[in-house]
Amino acid sequence: MISAPKGTKDVLPQDSYKWHYIESAARKVAEDFNLKEIRTPVFEHTELFLRGVGDTTDIVNKEMYTFKDKGDRSITLKPEGTAGAARSYIENGLGNAPLPVKMYYIIPAFRYERPQAGRLREFHQFGIEVYGSPSPDTDAEVISAAALFLKRLGINDVGLNINSIGCRSCRASYNAALKDYLRPRLSEMCPTCRERFEKNPLRILDCKEEGCKAITKDAPRMIDHLCEDCSAHFKAVQNYLKAGGIDFNIDPNIVRGLDYYTKTVFEFVSGDIGAQSTVCGGGRYDGLIEELGGNPTPAVGFAVGLERLMLLMENTGVDFPAERGPAVFIAGMDGPGRERAFALTCAVRSLGGSAECDHMNRSLKAQFKYADKIGAEYVVVLGDSELSGGVCKAKRMADGSVTEVKLEDIPSFFAKK
Ligand code: ATP
Ligand code: MG
Repeated sequence: MISAPKGTKDVLPQDSYKWHYIESAARKVAEDFNLKEIRTPVFEHTELFLRGVGDTTDIVNKEMYTFKDKGDRSITLKPEGTAGAARSYIENGLGNAPLPVKMYYIIPAFRYERPQAGRLREFHQFGIEVYGSPSPDTDAEVISAAALFLKRLGINDVGLNINSIGCRSCRASYNAALKDYLRPRLSEMCPTCRERFEKNPLRILDCKEEGCKAITKDAPRMIDHLCEDCSAHFKAVQNYLKAGGIDFNIDPNIVRGLDYYTKTVFEFVSGDIGAQSTVCGGGRYDGLIEELGGNPTPAVGFAVGLERLMLLMENTGVDFPAERGPAVFIAGMDGPGRERAFALTCAVRSLGGSAECDHMNRSLKAQFKYADKIGAEYVVVLGDSELSGGVCKAKRMADGSVTEVKLEDIPSFFAKK
């Protein structure tokens, strides 16, 4: 037997309604925020992620699914959604439209990681990207979209943590202070952090190694080194969040340590899903579009991990409304009865209704049972007397009530249900 590749997960037919529920909540939030969907390829040139995600990140260093295609090009399955969206924004001149450009995506993403609860090799993200606005209200707008999405799904026990990692100018002086602090302790740090020290010291603050964590605990904090502009921006974001009724904590330890990430960074974190507790991560990346060859364009966005969200909802007993079964199950017996059931089923569907009939040669009784199992709202039985009289009884399964319907009226009757 061939099994699914490690770190992947099938969504089975009996569970897909949960995904539909989450995805439609995502699309509804997007619509309510006037975000339009962008769809980009599942694979891109590797170069895009080297520049768009950054070569000091875990993603680029060890997690990418990279391969040569038959034309000897280096191709990578997308590990996240922002780089592709930014590439498309530049390539298609999307910045010529009235600003800001507001987009969202629901995508599969691929990272070669050690699979565990909430960490897969193929996973899914709902993300948004808002390009063109430098102002703090836009950061708050993006954060409020994530907050509303979680709230609408009935998730209350997530906390929002925010931080500012400054801009190019204040980051440079902060990096110098951070390096002065770390330099004498460098030999006690992990090899990855020693490498980060020169390339991108901020990322050291994100290290999960206990030894490094102990050292960085008392390191200088970016938030204490913000320039006037970044400091004012961070204050304004907080004021807009308060104005929008969104609770938050300031967590000076959040970093998204790329050069083109600027100012606001944030995470929604849960205590209910174990070690992989970050459900949503986002921030401002004012340098990204320029880094990828576009005109300087401020940008802010987030991505929610949908598997983690699902886990959180399942662990906390949040309800997933069941999807409806067919409006009617039309049961028929013997040749003419089964044929008529099939014909009427087709007729309901061609008027836009949902209907089902038997395909397993079941007895009438068994068809009835099956109809109940699949959640049919009504069941119609076509026996001899119904066929000869031209009238049938439609039984509403929820309450057992019965309505007489002429066979010729079945399509229009059920198409409206
Ligand atoms: P982590 O610190 O957990 O590795 P990250 O910083 O790599 O997260 P992002 O790149 O910010 O994550 O991605 C946004 C969201 O996507 C995460 O908050 C998480 O919910 C989800 N996510 C990231 N990697 C995975 C994965 N391997 N499996 C499932 N979900 C993931
Ligand atoms: Mg990661």
